[in-house]
Formats: sequence, C-alpha cells, structure tokens
Amino acid sequence: MEQELLNYALIIMLGGLLSLGLSFYALFRLYNTPGGVYYCVATFLASMFGFSYLFELLSTTLKSTWFWLRAEYVFLPFIPAFTLLMCCAYVGYRPKRWMYGILFAIPLSTVIMQHTNELHHLYYTSLHLSTDTPFPVSRIEHGPYFYVHSIYLYVCLAIGVLLLINQARQVRLRFRLQIFAMVAGLLTPVIASLFYVSGQSMYGIDLGPVFISVSFIFHSIALFRYRMFNVAPIARDIVFESMADGVLVINENDVVVDYNHAMKELMLGVTSNLIGRSMADVLQDRPELKELVDAGQDCEYIGWYENVRYCYRIRFSPVFGKNSAQVGRIIHVSDMTEQANLQDQLQYLADTDGHTRLFNKTAFMYRAQQELDRIARRGGHLSMIMFDIDEFKQVNDTFGHEAGDVALLYLAEAVREYADDYMLAGRYGGDEFVLCMPGSDLDAACELAEKLRRHITDGEIAVDHERLCITSSFGVTSVYIAPGEQEISIPLLIRQADQALYASKRSGRNRVQVYEEIGISSEVGGAG
Ligand code: GH3
Ligand code: MG
Repeated sequence: MEQELLNYALIIMLGGLLSLGLSFYALFRLYNTPGGVYYCVATFLASMFGFSYLFELLSTTLKSTWFWLRAEYVFLPFIPAFTLLMCCAYVGYRPKRWMYGILFAIPLSTVIMQHTNELHHLYYTSLHLSTDTPFPVSRIEHGPYFYVHSIYLYVCLAIGVLLLINQARQVRLRFRLQIFAMVAGLLTPVIASLFYVSGQSMYGIDLGPVFISVSFIFHSIALFRYRMFNVAPIARDIVFESMADGVLVINENDVVVDYNHAMKELMLGVTSNLIGRSMADVLQDRPELKELVDAGQDCEYIGWYENVRYCYRIRFSPVFGKNSAQVGRIIHVSDMTEQANLQDQLQYLADTDGHTRLFNKTAFMYRAQQELDRIARRGGHLSMIMFDIDEFKQVNDTFGHEAGDVALLYLAEAVREYADDYMLAGRYGGDEFVLCMPGSDLDAACELAEKLRRHITDGEIAVDHERLCITSSFGVTSVYIAPGEQEISIPLLIRQADQALYASKRSGRNRVQVYEEIGISSEVGGAG
C-alpha cells in the first residue's frame, strides 16, 4: 500500500477513534449536562463518518467506494444539526419546535437524495476512480443538491459560531477561552471543506473527515481543560442556589418560572412546588403580599407566621427579552428579621433606663413631644406628673446604695402597675420620675398621682431582712389644647410639673401639688 495512503488512513483512523472515545466519555460523564447529549451524538456520528470514509479511501473498486460513500451519508448530514443543537444548549437557547423540523428535514432529504442518486443524478453527476493518482481516489462531480447540503452545513456552523460569540461577549475571560476553543473546533472542518470544494485539496481527497477529527481535539481541549459544558451552567446554578437572598423569577403573566432554595425557605408555610403556578395562587393566603407584588415597588414587608414576626426587604428587577420587551420579573427577597430584631433591641437599649426599664429622659421627651403633637392636631388634654423620693440621700446613707436601688425599682413597678398603656413613664434622672398622660385632664392626673403617693407611702420595701419605708412628693400640671393650637411644649410642661414638685417639697413633702398658670397652687393631698 502506498505510504501516503497509509498515512492518511492512519490519521483518519486515529481521528475516528478519538471521536469515538469522546463520544463514550460524553455518554458517561456529560450526558446530563446541557448540550452533553448532542455532543455525544455529534462525536459518534463523526467517528462513524470517519470510519466509513476510511473504508472509502481504502476501496479499490467503484462498487465498494459507492457502498462506503453511502454509508458516510447515513451519518454526515446530521452532524451539523447536532453540533448546532449542542451550541444552542450550551448558550441556553431553546429552539422552537418548527426549528427542529427544518434542522432534521434537510439532512434527511440529503440522505434520500444521495442514496437515490442513480435515479436523478442531482447529488452526484458522475462518480469514478482516479487513475492518475498514486492510489485510487474517488472522483466526484457534484450535482445541485450537494450544494444544498453544503449551504446547510455552513449555515448551521455559522449560527453555532454566532451563538457562541454572542455568549462570549456576556461572560468573563475564563469562560471566553472555552467558548473560543469551541468556535475553533467548529471552524476547523469548514476550512478543510472549503479547500475540498474549491478543488485545492491534495489528489482531490476530501480533508473534511480528517479535520473533523482535528476539530474534536479543540472540543476536547474545551471539554477537559476548561470544562466547557458543565462549568458555566453549574456555576450559575451554584450561585443561584447558594444565594442567601431568596430569588423568584416570574414571567409576564406572573407565573413562577424559577426560584432558589433560599426562596423556598422564605415562603413560610408554602411547601409545594411553585413552578408553573401563578402568584395569585401562590399568595392566595397573603393578599397583602400579593398587593406588593402587583405594585412591583421595592419595599419592606413585616409579616407574622406562627406568632413570629418576619421582616423582608423585597426588590423587583425587570427581565427583558431579546427584543427589549419585558418578559418577566425577578423578585429578590432579603430576610431582614434578624437585623430588625437587633435594631429593636438596640432601640430598646437606647430608649430605656438600664435600671428601672422605664424610658430614659431623651426617649421620654421625644415620645411625649410626639403625643403632644398628636393631641394638638385633634385637640384634647395632656397632663404631666413628676415625682421624686423624699430624703433619698438619707435612704442611701442609712440602708446603703443597693437598698436605694431596690427602692427605685419599687417605684418603677408601682408606675407600671398604675399607668395605662397610653401613658408614657420615664426616669427623668436620679430619683425623679415623670409620667405623661395624653388625653387625661387635671383631675385624672391628680387622682393617679394620689394613688401612687399612697401606694408608695403604704408600701414596705424588703431589704436584707429589713423593712424600708419611703415617701415621695408629686408635682402635677395639665393643659387643654384646642385643635390646631399648640402654644405649649413638653419642656415647658415638665418645668411646670417640676415647679409643682418643688412646691410640694417645700410644703412638707409626701404630697401632690398642682401647678397653675399664675404660680403654684393648692395642695391636693398629702401627709396622711
Ligand atoms: P429631697 O426630698 O429633697 O428629694 O431629698 P433627696 O435626698 O432625695 O435629694 P435629691 O432628690 O436631690 O437626691 C437624689 C439622690 O438620689 C442623690 C443620689 O445619691 C441618689 N441617687 C441618684 N441616682 C441613684 C441611683 O441610681 N441609685 C441610688 N441608690 N441612689 C441614687
Ligand atoms: Mg429626692
């Protein structure tokens, strides 16, 4: 056998074996990855085509050449279809049904035309073996249908290349390399076939099968070196699934298309699969959430599930299709419950007095001002009580500072017991306490002050097996604000209550004193 023929045969055989090996690799390792099935089929077809071509090349009779030529055409016409489908799957494009029809109708017609060539000679106009070459090579004159096959091949490969280049523009460099390796793989047999069709190939041998094998080397580089099929989609899946935020994708009809694991966790009480269900159906028990989704405005949502509060930050991003029309929305949900709880705790610590757990002065002033503003809008009464332990220094000196602390707690408990939910109670400083009573008039304020005074006077505080008795003095002030008028402020009311308290101290302590605009007026109750 001619050495040159042997070399060709060897290269084609190695190419066929390589394609077959890759096909088996794809069968076992890549079958479930996007494009893996098509890659597997394409490499198998290529290897079968290569082996058939090998036998065609080794044929010495026209009959045998014709047989193997037909065998080649069982596989060859379908390679572009599967290669294109592989590219589509890789870039995440799903062809429409009719596209599959066209994609397979043309190669099928090619097979039929080639096999029935003797009837019409539309595929080959003549076929004979060369005698002017060192070994017999089939000399083929192509008919018009051959060019249908050729154009189909180029169009498929061109679409594949365009899809890959378009994808390469959108991904990072690392993925670009694997895409370019893939593109190089697609272009290799095209270049070879251009040589063949333009009559440039040596002895008229079709270099296509050899270059197809070479192209699969490129594919194998992309496959093994850069893990072409599985890295990008798997990475995307991993990112999607490992996100701490819940992500839910809905189409233009508000039907759930996809969602990640975090979203599943956030959809409290919803256990069934959401894909394919409308948002109206998914959120039928949560109309307020449905309203937020309909509005599509970024927002914070506070909900309750099994008596636990949940705070979510919800953001919406539109999804645009290829023609720039909106095809859906992505809903991002961040669980802010922990932060909200932490913020509440911090706010609580910032607002309360560490010892008595009543409002501290700053928080009290702020909230009291809010109450005053509210009353000023609608009109109404607002009263202020300020009270202070009598001779507290002595208590500290006699019983110790810790006993004094217990006395302060006793007072705070008394306030909590007597004050209703609408009142604000604060520790104004040292042994001074304040009560703001929105909606309460002077009588109600004096009544409460008197109740508290008696409770404190009558009570005994247990301290280290001893009984500690304390008294306290009260200053009360009250104001009526007509709707829309606000000539008084919280600091002024506190000053008035303080002046009344001072008067109470001066007139003997353990009593309730009322402030009047003209000065400090009559004592309401006291000492006894
Ligand atoms: P008055 O009847 O005039 O109010 O006499 P007083 O001794 O109570 O005088 P004053 O109200 O001015 O004194 C407040 C004292 O309260 C001073 C301080 O030693 C004490 N005190 C302030 N904060 C605390 C505290 O957190 N714990 C304790 N045990 N004592 C405190
Ligand atoms: Mg005092």
